[in-house]
Amino acid sequence: MSAPLLEVDDVEVAYGDAVALPGLSVAVAEGETLALVGANGAGKSTLLRTVCGLLRPRRGAVRLDGDDVTALPAHARVARGIAMSPEGRRLFPSLSVEENLLVGGYARRRGPWDLAAVYELFPLVAERRSRPAANLSGGEQQAVAIGRALMANPRLLLLDEVSLGLAPVVVAQLYAALPRITGQGTTVLVVEQDVHQAMAVADRVQCLLEGRTVLEGPAERIDRTALAAAYFGVA
Ligand code: ATP
Repeated sequence: MSAPLLEVDDVEVAYGDAVALPGLSVAVAEGETLALVGANGAGKSTLLRTVCGLLRPRRGAVRLDGDDVTALPAHARVARGIAMSPEGRRLFPSLSVEENLLVGGYARRRGPWDLAAVYELFPLVAERRSRPAANLSGGEQQAVAIGRALMANPRLLLLDEVSLGLAPVVVAQLYAALPRITGQGTTVLVVEQDVHQAMAVADRVQCLLEGRTVLEGPAERIDRTALAAAYFGVA
């Protein structure tokens, strides 16, 4: 079997003395969508920030397509094909929607995603292209954040808490775009607190508790009762 596109190998990540990930491993095959689930503080965002280069592990390695990228800064990882839509969107509020998208394309690779393709994926974003990002609704801002990551033409797209603070109907609209993204061959690692949403979109689910994997498996085979117990750490 070929190496996974993303291989996080036994990473230990700490904030000062507080160890968030005591030695976590995650692998995502090319073309696969993996959902990381877990309660608040389980370490999901820490893992994503480690993959995209915003955090450096004290031990362990991050490999993309077999290449060790652990020492590379975040911008160099974008050029290698790792792009993230971060928790809380993190748009530039006073820049227009289009300017925010263009920022995402700064270190872009060749590929299917450009302004026109993002606007086709999210027509509401196209309508608001000249408005300051701050003027958009939460769901529209989330669409811009995903579009900004796509502008880099990533091989691996990291999505952190797409559903946070959004109405279920808006979340459903955003996730409806995912098959169009994976259909381009993009590999996706999504972090979700909404387990039902995660199971609906992912090929595989990995549940974390206090920085450790407590359950993992193909989405269609995971037992929901066991997942609920793992999520809350009930033995
Ligand atoms: P959430 O859904 O709340 O974002 P999460 O699963 O993404 O949860 P992380 O944000 O990765 O969890 O947090 C993992 C652990 O690291 C928690 O114990 C958290 O308190 C701690 N932590 C996260 N960010 C920091 C930080 N900047 N400084 C110190 N500790 C942090």
